Amino acid sequence: MRLTRYFLPVLKENPAEAQIVSHRYMLRAGMIRQQAAGIYSWLPLGYRVLRRIEAIVHEEQGRAGHIPVLMPTLQPADLWRESGRYDAYGPEMLRLKDRHERELLYGPTNEEMITDIFRAHVSSYRDLPLTLYHIQWKFRDEMRPRFGVMRGREFLMKDGYNFDIDREAALHAYNRHMVSYLRSYERMGLTAIPMRAASGPIGGDDTHEFLVLAQTGESEVFYDDRVTALKLGARAIDYDDRAQVAAVCAEFTALYARTDETHDPAAFAAIPEARRKVGRGIEVGQIFYFATKYSEPMGAVVVNEKGERVPVHMGSHGIGVSRLVGAIIEASHDERGIVWPLEVAPFPVGIVNLKQGDGAADAACAGLYAALAARGIEALYDDRDERAGAKFATMDLIGLPWRITVGPRGLAAGKVELTSRRTGESEEMSPEAAVTRVAALCGGRAG
Ligand code: ATP
Ligand code: MG
Repeated sequence: MRLTRYFLPVLKENPAEAQIVSHRYMLRAGMIRQQAAGIYSWLPLGYRVLRRIEAIVHEEQGRAGHIPVLMPTLQPADLWRESGRYDAYGPEMLRLKDRHERELLYGPTNEEMITDIFRAHVSSYRDLPLTLYHIQWKFRDEMRPRFGVMRGREFLMKDGYNFDIDREAALHAYNRHMVSYLRSYERMGLTAIPMRAASGPIGGDDTHEFLVLAQTGESEVFYDDRVTALKLGARAIDYDDRAQVAAVCAEFTALYARTDETHDPAAFAAIPEARRKVGRGIEVGQIFYFATKYSEPMGAVVVNEKGERVPVHMGSHGIGVSRLVGAIIEASHDERGIVWPLEVAPFPVGIVNLKQGDGAADAACAGLYAALAARGIEALYDDRDERAGAKFATMDLIGLPWRITVGPRGLAAGKVELTSRRTGESEEMSPEAAVTRVAALCGGRAG
């Protein structure tokens, strides 16, 4: 993408309304625009990141054997009357009426609707296990929308729902979700720690939240420092292997890690003092097993192997897709701007032309751009007629992992400069070598 043909409305001033760094940088980098309290438009740069996060979530859900669907944002109130939640949900639910006075609501979550789909089409244990999920906008009329996309009213969530024949099968689904979530967050460059949680309006006793440590997080967290070093890495996971998946969950939940809601001071005090940590965290996901809480009242019943009609065991599992954009920035930035992890970066590499209009520099930039494109790498080429300082400031603010700097002086010696946004380290090399290097560095990432 050439910057002169793009839409990147960067702000020079710090927006006064932004209290935390991710909100400030998202506004300054032209990623979002607030349209009403807690409701945002996603501008091109922000939309790219959002789509990359979605893509990771889709891939990892696919690996775990979970199937994507798409349910609507608007739901009939009657469905929620069946579970009893229409009255229970309170003022966070946005309720509306259509022209025929039929009551609707803008979905804050989808347990009822997915259960309705299930009961209409599934009636035998032979069709289980089944996990369906979607990535769809939610609305919760939060009392205090704040921190930009971190606590919006309209926000994008991945929510998945498992249907299983019994408790054991449903707990395997729970574990699959935990592992696939850990893998998703890790790919996004995040350490998200599963912490036993309290359940809230979704219901159920088995539930974990995933928290990204950050000073601006809304939850107080208590943990054994060793938990922050756990990594899935590249290990192979067979999602059908119940024992293996359960062992991974055990590994990631053995050490003490709780939010203030479930904190157990006595257990915490038993951790050696040097490892005992109190901090803050951002909730980027939560998983629940709630047995037959919805299947029973809503008649989601299957015939089991013995020919008996039994309600299915269910759970639901959410990832805060739009909140993650902010959470990643909270976890990865410096005083000059965002530092995107490669997998979620809007572009993997930027090209800065130090002297736009100089024949050699323009040609070298165009050549780099085309050579990268031929390798499937889309660069953001700053071809504006701007001072070098302004171009660097923009690149630093928007946080692309790699920058190739091209100027007449370097070119005279046959060199361009490749710079890492994270370390600030630069290296001079030929344009061809820069292309090869960037291709190698970005190898794991598509697009
Ligand atoms: P919170 O405690 O932050 O209000 P929640 O526990 O009510 O969140 P869940 O029902 O668990 O939310 O939803 C799944 C995920 O959706 C959360 O883990 C969070 O990442 C995200 N999420 C929830 N509410 C919001 C919101 N208002 N804005 C952005 N993301 C949200
Ligand atoms: Mg939650």
